[in-house]
Amino acid sequence: MSAQFSQFPVLGFIHAAYFAVAVVFILGLKAMSSPVTARRGVVWAGYAMIAATVVTFAWPGMQNFGLMVLAIAIGTVVAWVSGKKVAMTDMPQMVAIYNGMGGGAAAAIAALEFARGEVHGPVVTTLAVLGALIGSVAFSGSCVAFAKLQGIMKKAWRLPAQNGVNVLLALGAVALGVMIIGAETPDSTHVIAFFVLALVLGVILTVPIGGADMPVVISLLNAFTGLAVGMEGYVLGNPALIVAGIVVGASGTLLTQLMAKAMNRPISNVIFTPISGAAAGGGEAVEGEQKEVGAMDAAALMRYASKVIIVPGYGMAVAGAQHKVWEMTEMLEEAGVEVVFAIHPVAGRMPGHMNVLLAEAGVPYEKIFDLEEINGDFAQADVALVIGANDVVNPSARTDKSSPIFGMPILNADLAQNVIVVKRGKGTGYSGIENALFYKENTRLLYGSAQQAIGEVIQHVKAMSV
Ligand code: NDP
Repeated sequence: MSAQFSQFPVLGFIHAAYFAVAVVFILGLKAMSSPVTARRGVVWAGYAMIAATVVTFAWPGMQNFGLMVLAIAIGTVVAWVSGKKVAMTDMPQMVAIYNGMGGGAAAAIAALEFARGEVHGPVVTTLAVLGALIGSVAFSGSCVAFAKLQGIMKKAWRLPAQNGVNVLLALGAVALGVMIIGAETPDSTHVIAFFVLALVLGVILTVPIGGADMPVVISLLNAFTGLAVGMEGYVLGNPALIVAGIVVGASGTLLTQLMAKAMNRPISNVIFTPISGAAAGGGEAVEGEQKEVGAMDAAALMRYASKVIIVPGYGMAVAGAQHKVWEMTEMLEEAGVEVVFAIHPVAGRMPGHMNVLLAEAGVPYEKIFDLEEINGDFAQADVALVIGANDVVNPSARTDKSSPIFGMPILNADLAQNVIVVKRGKGTGYSGIENALFYKENTRLLYGSAQQAIGEVIQHVKAMSV
């Protein structure tokens, strides 16, 4: 029996297992599309990844088992500890750094294959080079994104002729990549220079982008990582990597488009002409004054209302007020008030941020409505309670053509009979612009950190209900 024939059943088994894993990845992703089944989807995909990793140990000719186990052990410990410790508000930077690791791993696969001179044929070498380029950009770009969101890197500087420098770096990396593809055995100087240029490109592309746009960039880099992994999967002849890469690449691309649409900014605009969120300003001057309301009056307004729509935003997340908000909701419902939640697609700092927080506090999914589902209901609501949200309820997005957020779809909280806004002071939102909603005749400001302000409202609702 030839060696190859004797390996056939093992390879057949591995490929069958990879196929099953790919099916579970896709089912897991499908489950992640609804909050009701999302947790299940994540668990399925996690088990599938474990299965794919275990099966790979049986790959014919596989060596260095000790090193593989050591790498997996280190990765598992780091991921477990950081996953347990991370606060919900720090999730974007966590996603950024994990994503960077994926891109770096894809680039490392290509680097090793070049070093061993084992990449054969123009198609495979081209995919190895493309995967290495995209993976390196995703790696260094994600590291910068992490540093910015973590507050380690505070400035968003731009080089003079920034876009020209980007083009030169990209052309240099592509030229070196073509040399690597054309060479029988890649020249190590070319390989090193290629990786250096690709890594610098990732840094230079990401450094000018302001914090407000960073989640969009992370999502884009995530799509890059997926593509790079898929390409390197082809180089290694590993179907599980190809499928996982394509799934990540496709979903990352769709998510990036969705976020850009919800912020009304084309992706090219986010990358090549970045505004630095908080410093952006702009738009028509807002006239009038903010009218304050006390916790007792706010409580009375809601306790005796028929319908209240709650609009949570980033401030509710930072304050960790979701549990108090749900406690208040239950009390109002006991008093016969209909209470629902309105979620903007980019409320908070990452997609799904608010849904996850509310679900964590126990809010049933049927009480949570997306923008398109709820926007028509604000006009019938007695009270819109805006908690730590700002840009996503700014009516200038509908009316002021000179506003930087003009055209962004917003929640029409201003159309409710009464609007109560919970915030600490006169701070602006992430876009850095003033919000006309806070100055409207039907709006009252309940100043205070969300947790404390809602806590006070709860006390008054309680007193009114006995
Ligand atoms: P914003 O960042 O616009 O506003 C947050 C508000 O919360 C501020 O007005 C602030 O005012 C208030 N706030 C802060 N801390 C507290 C606290 N402890 N208690 C009460 N209020 C507080 O948030 P939104 O959710 O409305 O909008 C999200 C923004 O992030 C948008 O600009 C969006 O484009 C951007 N973004 C979102 C992404 C996503 O995927 N979700 C991706 C990229 C960008 P004050 O300081 O006075 O308290």
